[in-house]
Amino acid sequence: MALFTVTDFDRQFYKEKLQDFLPEKIIDVHTHVWLKEMKAKKKEAVKRTVSWPSMVAADNSAEDLMETYKLMFPDKKVTPVIFTSAGMNDDMDAMNAYIAESSAKYGMPALLYARPDWSQEELAAKLDAFPWKGIKVYLNLSPIYIPEKEIRIFDFLTPAMLDVVAERKLAVMLHIPRDGRLKDPVNVCQIQEICRRWPDVKLIIAHIGRAYCNCDVGDSIEILKKEERLMWDFAATSNAWVMEQLIRAVGPKRIMFGSDMPILRLRTRRIEENGKYINIVPKGVYGDVSADSHMRESEDEEFTFFMYREIEAFRAAAEATGLSRADIEDVFCNNACRLFDL
Ligand SMILES: [Zn+2]
Repeated sequence: MALFTVTDFDRQFYKEKLQDFLPEKIIDVHTHVWLKEMKAKKKEAVKRTVSWPSMVAADNSAEDLMETYKLMFPDKKVTPVIFTSAGMNDDMDAMNAYIAESSAKYGMPALLYARPDWSQEELAAKLDAFPWKGIKVYLNLSPIYIPEKEIRIFDFLTPAMLDVVAERKLAVMLHIPRDGRLKDPVNVCQIQEICRRWPDVKLIIAHIGRAYCNCDVGDSIEILKKEERLMWDFAATSNAWVMEQLIRAVGPKRIMFGSDMPILRLRTRRIEENGKYINIVPKGVYGDVSADSHMRESEDEEFTFFMYREIEAFRAAAEATGLSRADIEDVFCNNACRLFDL
């Protein structure tokens, strides 16, 4: 049995809107790979993330990820950049070992999931033990005493970590914290500081800085466009307006396609309501969604993958800004090749 069903509606959507737009070769710079048995049984002491992603997939093996691309993009060659997805209590070493093993086995470039409480020597030793392309950091690994709303970038991507990464000229995949998202001034200041103090770090702002809604942008793209080495991925967003602002500000050489698999298997149409994103999903498919205010069920429409919606939105933004064929190939492949030396 296939990993998931592809419906006629999906096939038609792909054929009509995406197939010709997408280049033959694609690099997906943002994917999570893990096995559920590596997850801790013990719950996190504090919950600092949204809950809906866990409704989409219990895990995502490297094989599942490859099958996902075969099902969704049957005529394309997709290479993912892989990293794990770990919480405070998970066995990070086992999860990173699985990523290294999958990377070596299938030729997928990989990022080390890095904890802020490792010593510099520890991080350096891990980075030197495998050809990692960089590190992935996450806000849930910040010291436990910091309330979610107060977490700053330097709490989980510390100056000590940046020194080690800069020395090796590697990448950092950064999902920024804070309720203000991209427009948050603390985020903007710390991103600027990283670009200036550690110019050798290849910093990637994931999810366009979590600017999922128009009101999340503020003037941050205008401010940050001056940081010429800063890269952006548009993983897990289907906001064409925000993508358009980004293309106009930084151009097609600094934007990369990323998905955030496996959660982009979600069937949804995302809307914005009072400055908040809501995933409209088919009724009954994802269990009880009532506790998550970012989820809402609907019975009267057909749904396709969030993955397709994301690319459809980028296509609209690319058309609005007049991107060329070569620009689109840069975004979906060449920029990542250059950044990760592939
Ligand atoms: Zn992610």
